Amino acid sequence: MVKADICGKRRWQNWWSMMGFWWALILCLLAMMPCCQAMKLDGQWYWQDDPECAGAWRPFQPPGQPPFAKGTQYLWLRTTLPEEAVHDATLLFNVTGQNFEIWLDDQKIYSYGDMEQGPMSYGQRWHMVTLPPDYEGRTLLIRTRSDNPFCLGNFGTIQLESSVTQMATILRRDIPYIANIPLGIFMIFIMMMYYMSPTAPKSLYTQIILFIGCFVSWMMCVLNTKQLFLDAPVFWWFLLRINAYMLPILANLIIYRVIDRQYRRRTWLTVLAFAALFLTALLAELVGLNGLDACASVFYILLPVLEGLVAYWTIRSAIRGNYYCRALLPSLVAMLVMGTLDGAFGHFFWLPESGSLLPYGTFTIGIFVLYIVRQQIRRERSLAIRAAGLADAMAEAVERSETDRLTHCYNRNRLDAVLETEISRHREEKETFSLIMLDIDFFKRINDSYGHDAGDEVLASFAGLIRDNIKKSDVFVRWGGEEFILVCRGCSKDEAQLVAERLRRQVAYSDIFPRQRITCSIGVASWQGSGDTATALLKRVDTALYTAKRNGRNMVCCAVEA
Ligand code: GH3
Ligand code: MG
Ligand code: MG
Repeated sequence: MVKADICGKRRWQNWWSMMGFWWALILCLLAMMPCCQAMKLDGQWYWQDDPECAGAWRPFQPPGQPPFAKGTQYLWLRTTLPEEAVHDATLLFNVTGQNFEIWLDDQKIYSYGDMEQGPMSYGQRWHMVTLPPDYEGRTLLIRTRSDNPFCLGNFGTIQLESSVTQMATILRRDIPYIANIPLGIFMIFIMMMYYMSPTAPKSLYTQIILFIGCFVSWMMCVLNTKQLFLDAPVFWWFLLRINAYMLPILANLIIYRVIDRQYRRRTWLTVLAFAALFLTALLAELVGLNGLDACASVFYILLPVLEGLVAYWTIRSAIRGNYYCRALLPSLVAMLVMGTLDGAFGHFFWLPESGSLLPYGTFTIGIFVLYIVRQQIRRERSLAIRAAGLADAMAEAVERSETDRLTHCYNRNRLDAVLETEISRHREEKETFSLIMLDIDFFKRINDSYGHDAGDEVLASFAGLIRDNIKKSDVFVRWGGEEFILVCRGCSKDEAQLVAERLRRQVAYSDIFPRQRITCSIGVASWQGSGDTATALLKRVDTALYTAKRNGRNMVCCAVEA
């Protein structure tokens, strides 16, 4: 067990050093990255909803959408590009659910999707648009079309820089995800490994794996660089939203399982609330009402409210000594705060642009996973200790069931097993063995003359004397009453006869019972190989003993064997 412990420790050390190395690598990359705060097109913007661009321009401030009327499908957005020149100037922006064109004055320089009747571009995608060299001070126009009122006119913050810097910007934005996705996958592996343990609470571990899996999948959806390899905006867009709706459901299911009994029902209600919202959003999406986006505002308001309540109940449980809740608390609170801040910026634009915070929640999940693993190791350790205790108790019980209490000799139970072993040993190794049967002469008289207790004393002393004068490999058994059997391993009949004669004399000249001389009669028989049986051998040795008795006692007789 100590060895297993050391192995476990070493395994942990290896893993942590591996993850440490990964993080050091990310930090080095971060340090080497050009410090690239790209220039933002956050000057004055104007918009109009006349499809021919013949209406009046009205001001608005991105990020965020212009206040267009319900049912609008086409918008024009306008700003003036800065005067200072940038080499290899490129626009970078992230667009969701829109078809659009980019114009410089009256010159179209980029388009994405059909602007007239074609299908709408679902999903989210980064766009890099290279500007012509003489772009300084010219008017930038965006013509956009969308049937999704939550997306129309939303281009986030458009950045203007050299293409190299723009690439670096995308990479830099991805660092929280690139750094945390492997950590999440690593934790899934750990949980799966401990899931295999027979003592693992499987359904809890399944829930934890599902939650971390959903979280990792969410991070993958947000990751920008994946567009370079897997440009499937619709797929990522759907998956991102589904993951976002699923995260609080899966988190609260874990909490439901571990929280104190009195908060269970309430936690379950929060699960139902989020599940109902998700189903509504999904149904509305399927019937073409942009439900996943439409319900997002409700989601981002519900999130801090309900998760705040769940956090409060978790804190109450933790204070009462619920260790699972204590381990969950850092993760729950940190992810609640980070998720709310990210939502406030990403969805409502309430806060100025900040780095994505939620991915760093992976570290706080790590605290919970470590706790779970520690619990699992403790459980296995206590089980191992109990198993060891059980094995000892079982060995003791077996020993007791095979030992005679008065004489401390083995009993018949053991004799059967020993005979079986010796017979198969003879079959395999051709090693013979013999039996010596001893019976105290006129033992009944001792009982009658000195009492039963004196008889017991004689039995114990007699057994002790024999035990002190036989080889370790011999097995000494109380056959019953005052009869004993000695199994002499590896002894031929002649050798056994010599042993029997020596024992007979030792008993006869001993003072095991000072008040009266004790003698014994002895029969000897040996295993005859194939054709012989244990019953026949016992019968022969008994007959030999009977002969010794009949011939006057205090003597050794050998069985007549073919
Ligand atoms: P023999 O020389 O023919 O063997 O005569 P014996 O008297 O020794 O043999 P017998 O079989 O007539 O008597 C054995 C006695 O041993 C009968 C029984 O009361 C006694 N005995 C059997 N088990 C125990 C025991 O555990 N303790 C005591 N004190 N006596 C026992
Ligand atoms: Mg006797
Ligand atoms: Mg007897």
